[in-house]
Formats: sequence, structure tokens, C-alpha cells
Amino acid sequence: MSDCNFHARFGWFWYNDEEIFHDSQADIDRKVARHAEQGITHLITFGCTHFRWSFQPFWPVINECIGKIVSAGHRYGVKIIEHHSSNLGFFPDTPENLTKFTGEMELRHSNPDHWPGLLEFITSPDTELEQWVQISGRTGKPVVTYGGHGRCFNHPDFRAAYLEYLESIYRLGVDGIMTDDVQYFREDSCACPHCRRLFRERSGFELPTPEKWDAWFGNMLDESFTSWLRFRFDSIRDFHRLVKEHYEGLGRKLLRPNYTSVALCPNLTAYIIDDLPALDWIFQECCFSTIIRYTWPLYLLDQQHRRMMEKKRGIPSMMMFYAERKDQLIFTWGLARLCGALYTNTPEGESKMDERALREFEKKYGFCLFRCGSIPMVGFVDSLDNRRFGASYEASRMKFWLQSCIFKNIPVELVDIKCPETWKNIPVLCVNEVHVLSEREISDLLEYARSGGVLVVTGDSGCQDERLRLRMPEETAALWKISGESAPSEILEFPFGKGKIVRPGWSFGYPGTEEEKRHLFLELQTRFSVLSPKEIFPLRKDIPELWLQRSYGRPARKSMPNNTLYYEGEDAREEVAAFLTRLAGKKSPFKAENLPEGVLAVPLLASGGDALAIQLLNAAGTLKHGKEETMSHADPIPFPPLEGPDAVFSVRLPETLRNKKTLSVCFTAPDTPEQPLKSHGDGSVLHVEFPLHRLKTCGMVLIKK
Ligand SMILES: [Zn+2]
Repeated sequence: MSDCNFHARFGWFWYNDEEIFHDSQADIDRKVARHAEQGITHLITFGCTHFRWSFQPFWPVINECIGKIVSAGHRYGVKIIEHHSSNLGFFPDTPENLTKFTGEMELRHSNPDHWPGLLEFITSPDTELEQWVQISGRTGKPVVTYGGHGRCFNHPDFRAAYLEYLESIYRLGVDGIMTDDVQYFREDSCACPHCRRLFRERSGFELPTPEKWDAWFGNMLDESFTSWLRFRFDSIRDFHRLVKEHYEGLGRKLLRPNYTSVALCPNLTAYIIDDLPALDWIFQECCFSTIIRYTWPLYLLDQQHRRMMEKKRGIPSMMMFYAERKDQLIFTWGLARLCGALYTNTPEGESKMDERALREFEKKYGFCLFRCGSIPMVGFVDSLDNRRFGASYEASRMKFWLQSCIFKNIPVELVDIKCPETWKNIPVLCVNEVHVLSEREISDLLEYARSGGVLVVTGDSGCQDERLRLRMPEETAALWKISGESAPSEILEFPFGKGKIVRPGWSFGYPGTEEEKRHLFLELQTRFSVLSPKEIFPLRKDIPELWLQRSYGRPARKSMPNNTLYYEGEDAREEVAAFLTRLAGKKSPFKAENLPEGVLAVPLLASGGDALAIQLLNAAGTLKHGKEETMSHADPIPFPPLEGPDAVFSVRLPETLRNKKTLSVCFTAPDTPEQPLKSHGDGSVLHVEFPLHRLKTCGMVLIKK
């Protein structure tokens, strides 16, 4: 991967009725030029025809518009990436679904009346496209999603038709494509005849009929069920592969950004991102339908996964937001800074935000904003197999611990179990409820402890082997080479080589009731149904639900609850942070003192090693809220003035900055020129004094030679 991908700056080009039916080439030129002036180098298209299959009769006129966008882009040196749903379509079969469709169109400044024949097309039950849809295993009927249907990736006619459509897009000269929504839209799809046949051929198992579905579904220890889960992931990957091999076969090289909103969660739709066959940028859709001010912690936390992928695949990670106002723009850009991620913003349907100051800052300081290294105190072990096939994958405890670190300014990192070289030097490594672990992986973890690391193992980690067989408790204990309960009632510490293994108590570090914990981590252990929020949430009375509809100017409305956004368990958070800090001891690479609650600090190393930046964000007060009925997307980011004694950052310097007589230390932000800061140190650890009032929104302390 060339370095230039880190220099890409992404924007979004919306094309709706105006652009498709009215705009001349000169109009489109003007709109694209505005993005170029903002410093944007790559534009991803987006619009009211996102569910492209509903608009099949209009593909020629849509393509004509894409052609204009490509011409304009190339005139201004901007790459164009066409983005649409690869398989979804609105084919409303009820009046409610029809209303939903027209509502979606209106949201995007579109009107079905502008599209002659569209309603007749999408309400005709006989269209061939509707013969290719995903089928529910439970009902035997098409799966409804977003008020429409998605087509099945194993249907040969759909595959052929989609490739043919893509060819028509390629001929327009696009620089890249983003094929969205390659996933199954329910946990029981797809059970169409093609999937049934392929599953039988590949696994030797038979998918049950709808009458027998419920009795079969969900047993994570039944090989036929887990084979089916695998089959779904494989089908999705194969479809991506098909697309890639097809354009390569045509002699084309295409740019391939792709995204997900949350990866550290049960994956019911078999959406893949980790093992995409083609991926040049990995990004996260943050706060799409939620209020930025109240829900950012979930996305900041999950971005750790994208950051892990950045390192693993050597590609940039990016965060995408839908910020509509200046306060949201600077806040969300500041969130991306904490993660060393590229930033992209698109107020839905509007592109009038001025990003120039941010893009100028990125140009000036890109060397320490992107492609940076971390200096983690704590690593959290991630395993793709466990996320996909663990009998009770439920990352709540890990997420709470991760979030505790983030709020307490402890540098953290998510690490891949399969890449020990990336985590062998982290002072503390946590294996939180990673159930699926091979003998080799457990042995790598033990080697880490033997060489001096502090290995924290919680719950029943390692209770399943890589073939998903459940290990007996004695067998698991023998592999870990320590005796004692897997979930002791108090914290146990075992010296191990030059390091140690720590087993925290069952209840440690999760802010729920005992009953709830048992429910999450024990009773539903061997049921896929642990993934159903319906079963978990009735138990969650103590944790407020902060998942609120962003709602496009309409009053805020309570939507899907989610227990992983932000936990109010301040005491438990404090306890976890103190526990991990104690375990790291003298090896702790970074300390932030006197920072007010909600002010976040993350140290990041410039890729060349010549500089270190402490990224700062004033998120204080963002999570304070009034009554739920009055919470809305219009609530401003508070950015309160910060008061109190100077903060002190103590940072262990990397080799490249050690023992330098003169290090320059300053504070700077997009609206603040460099201001020198006082510092002192012994050549290996530097202490920087930081007057709090300097931080208004976000900014960074820059330490360089
Ligand atoms: Zn199918």
C-alpha cells in the first residue's frame, strides 16, 4: 500500500433529482469544484438512488449523471468513487412500505413524481429482480429490510446482472467503487434454493425446513449450525471476490474504500470487513442515526478495531460523521484526531460545511496526525474467530474496560491474537471473554507472560478450541498452566516466568447487577440467542439508554437501546482503571494528571519517529443531559471553559526523541498558532505542563526535535 492513501481526503458528492434531471456539466463542475477548494481529493457518491435495483429502468439517466461527476472530478484532480447498495431495493408490498419509500426520497430532496413509471415498476409483483431475493429460513418468505428486499449473493442470475451493471459504471471512467450492503439481512437468511443447495454441497449438512427451523437454530455447539454460520461468511466473501476478480479480469484497477459502523458486536448479518478481498481504506460510519453529542463513546471505542486493521493491512483508517454544525464538525474531527484516523464528513444531502481550516491543519501537521504509532499501556485481545463463532460472543466486559481506559486517559489498543509481534511489548494484555482460542494462541499468550508481560484473563477464556469444541474446565485450566477457578470471587495473581497471570473476580469490572452478569456471561453461554438484545435488555434497568434517533430536524425519538454506548458505572470505571494502572506499574508509558472529567488525551507517535503528539479533546459535559424527551441533535457540544491547576502530561519518550538536549514543546490547534509550553524531564521521561484554559475544543501538544 502506497503512502499516498494516507494523503487522501474524502468528501461525499450527493446526487439527487436536481443533479440527475437538471444539472448541466457546468453545474456539476461547480459543485465538484467546491469540494476541491475544501482540500478534498476523493469524492464518494451518494444519493436518493442508493437502493439501485429499484431504479433499474433509470440506470441510463443515472449513469449519465455519474459520467458528468467523473468528468468534473477529473477536471479538478478529484478521484470519483461510485457508491450504491449492491443488492437492496424498495419494492413496497404494503401502503406502509410505500410511505417509507416516499419518505426516504423526500429526505434526499427527491420526489417519486419526478421519476415517470417508477412507482409502477417497484409495485409490480412480477419483476424478475424480486425472484432473486433473500429468503428467511424461519418463514420461507422473503426477508424484509428497510421496507424492501435484498437480493441473494448466491443467486446466479443476480450475480450476472450485477456484474453487468458494474461494467456499465466502469465504462464511465470511475476511479473506484463501493458496493454497499453485502450482507444477510436477518439472522435466519438466506435459505433460498441456491443457498440450500450450495450449503449441502459444501458442508454435507441439510438446512432445516421452516417447521424445523427454530428447534435447530442457535445451538453454537451443533456443527451443522456453525457450518451454516461459516457458509454465510464465506458466501459474502466470495461475492466480494467475484466483484474484484471481475474488474481485474477487465484490466481495471479500482479504488476500494469500505466501511462498517460497529465491528465489536455479534455479527448477525455476516457482514465482513476484516477479510475483505479488496480494501484500500477502512472506515467507520459513526453516529449515523444517533445524536453525536450523546453517543460518541461507542464509536470512539469501536474505532479501535479499525485502527487494528490499519496496522494489520497497512491501510488508512477513517471516521465518517454526519455533522451539521460547526460545533459538531470540530468535535467529530477531534474524535478522529484521538484515533489517528482520516476524517470525512457529510451532512446528509448538504455539503455547505467549511472544512478548510481543518484541512489546512492536516496539511501542515499530517506527519504526526496520520499513520501514527501508539504507545499503549493496555492491549485488549481480539479474535475474529471468537467474534464470529464463539458460543457466547458478548464483548460487554471488554468494552466496559476499554471505555474505562479511554475515559481515564490510559492509552489502549485492540490487538489481533494472530499477530503476537504486535502485542509482545505491551505492559498489560487483557483477554476478556475470548472463548475461542487454539492451543497455539494460548501458548503465545503464555509466552508473553513468561517474557515479563502481565496477562489478565477473565471468565471462560479458552473454553472452546479453534474447531469450536467445548473444552472441559480441567482441560482449559491445564492449557493455561494455572490452577484455580476460571471466575474466582476475588482477584488472583500467579507469578509466571518473568511476568504474571491475573484472574480477576467474576464480578470485577462490569457495572451491572449480579443477575445480569450471570445472564450475559453464563446462562446464555451456549446459545446464539445471547445475541438477541430483546433477551438482555429487559434486565438492564440501571444503565440509561442513550441511543437516540438523530431524526433530521424532527424531534428526537427514542430508538433501539444499546448497552454498549456508555456506561454510567463511574465507580466501576475508576476501579478498572486503577487495577490496570497498578498492573502496568513502572512500565506505564503515559500519565495525564489534573485533567477534568471528560477531557481526553491520547499520545501518538509520528510515523518517522521525529515527533510525538498528545491529542486532546474537550468532551467535558457532553454526556450530561436533561429529560430524554428533550434530548435532540440540536443540543450543542458544550465545550465548557476549563479551569483548575495546570495539567501535567508525563510521557516516556521513544528512542528517537530520547536524550535530546532541546525538544520543542508547544500547543496548537486549527484556530491556535503554536504556543510554547513548559517542560522538564530526565531524557527518557518528559513532563509537560499544560494550562487548561488553552484547550477550547480540540488540539494537540506537539513534542519534536
Ligand atoms: Zn440465498
